[in-house]
Amino acid sequence: MDKNAPALSLPAEPREFGFLVGGQWIAAGDREVFERSSPAHDVPVSKVVKCTPADLDMAVAAAREAFEDGRWSRIPAVERANVLLRVAQIIRRRADEIAYWETLENGKPIAQARSEVDGTAGMFEYAAGAARALHGDAFNNLGDGMFGLVTREPIGVVGLITPWNFPFLILCERVPYILAAGCTIVAKPSEVTSATTLLLGEVLQEAGVPDGVFNVVTGSGSTIGQAMTEHLDIDMVSFTGSTAVGRSCVQAAAGNFKKLGLELGGKNPQIVFADANLEDAADGVAFGIGFNTGQCCVSGSRLIVERSVAREFEQLVASKFEKIKVGDPLDPATQVGAITTPAQNKTIMDYITKGREQGARVVCGGEQLDFGRGQYIAPTVFGDVTGDMAIARDEIFGPVLSVMPFDTEEEAIAIANDTVYGLAASVWTKNIDKALNVTRRVRAGRFWVNTTLSGGPELPIGGFKQSGWGREAGVYGVEEYTQIKSVHIEIGKRDPWVS
Ligand code: NDP
Repeated sequence: MDKNAPALSLPAEPREFGFLVGGQWIAAGDREVFERSSPAHDVPVSKVVKCTPADLDMAVAAAREAFEDGRWSRIPAVERANVLLRVAQIIRRRADEIAYWETLENGKPIAQARSEVDGTAGMFEYAAGAARALHGDAFNNLGDGMFGLVTREPIGVVGLITPWNFPFLILCERVPYILAAGCTIVAKPSEVTSATTLLLGEVLQEAGVPDGVFNVVTGSGSTIGQAMTEHLDIDMVSFTGSTAVGRSCVQAAAGNFKKLGLELGGKNPQIVFADANLEDAADGVAFGIGFNTGQCCVSGSRLIVERSVAREFEQLVASKFEKIKVGDPLDPATQVGAITTPAQNKTIMDYITKGREQGARVVCGGEQLDFGRGQYIAPTVFGDVTGDMAIARDEIFGPVLSVMPFDTEEEAIAIANDTVYGLAASVWTKNIDKALNVTRRVRAGRFWVNTTLSGGPELPIGGFKQSGWGREAGVYGVEEYTQIKSVHIEIGKRDPWVS
């Protein structure tokens, strides 16, 4: 995207969205409506329906019917793949529009939103191939009388609950893979960022996804989200969000023992050794916590840095932050936009206050930025952080970096593992032995060596420990939405039980 292009303008009035059930767009009617304001501009931009539990039942019934009659689940994978390839084309065609709504509701920079949307097209293309590659196994070693098959079958109706930090990207790290497996979907986006999930509904319809295969209900997590996790006719829920709500999903799922995929919080370490290219590492560390205002489950929020270079390195990171452009996310030159919700803004500022009170030293940032409207926080670095402080332990989900020095490799690994989470980690060193040792010993589902936050459709996403269950994306992400059936086939005459 051209960084010198003029800033986009705000919509003249909020756009009204219906919700999608069985291929039909349903308007609010006499239901309540939620009005969303742009977190960067304090201007109403969209209105979505507060769906009722009856609406959810209707959507689940549509997804169930679509699954059982085989209009998607039983067609040849090549046909599913062709539809997914068309989705990719349409996303590319509508990328500007999707990115615009993502920025309006989320507050992220438009250039970043655009690049995220571009990336999602590749996910549909990858999943198209994965749909065709999905296969089982055969056992030809059971003797003359027996042949064994292992087949993969789509798990059924999937409830998809997604958060507000990457509304379209996280959605598309799941939808193509779920569809590739042959499942049907009822999606529930975060109420504050529903627009782009609804736009994906339009895209999938245009691409030829049959009616009822992808349904969207809108509304709050505590009503529709909770009802979805409890629903007895949903076979699996994929939930992305806080560890606290993830725990409540586990309890709610007990009704029908639905399978759960959970991608939850993280307190992810960035381990920097003195032998790293410090300039490069500082840029990566700043990106790892500044990107998306630190509202990423994989943000590198703990900087574990070798003591001999710690002071120099925190200054290097601070100098990167001084140069980045924070501001109006509709300006293509902006690198860091607004905090997505007032509640999240308060959470972050409360942690900054706690960090100061508990004795951490502010290296840079630490304050709210005033652009006359919207909510913004300066990227913040805290030095002298100890492992018992709240800013060292809790997922803040904001642009706040906690610096903790180490003296030995063992100590670096111990600090990195001193968390209930295990979502992601990065290590920066030019020593291959150290890089491999740390990668193998730190417990995290995603690892970066001399880089951070990179990704793509091939590599799986998910966490160790309290960061979640299961994996999304890659072939692993397709397999996650299947279940395995073993088939024993007798050849010739069976040995009788009763002679
Ligand atoms: P939540 O976990 O509450 O929200 C995530 C999603 O779950 C949203 O779609 C939300 O809907 C929905 N939801 C909320 N309550 C329930 C429920 N009882 N049952 C089912 N679904 C529910 O996160 P918050 O928005 O409150 O953010 C709080 C913290 O969570 C953040 O500070 C951050 O630490 C973490 N978080 C982590 C994310 C990640 O990617 N791992 C993403 C978002 C937050 P709705 O928004 O409509 O209420």
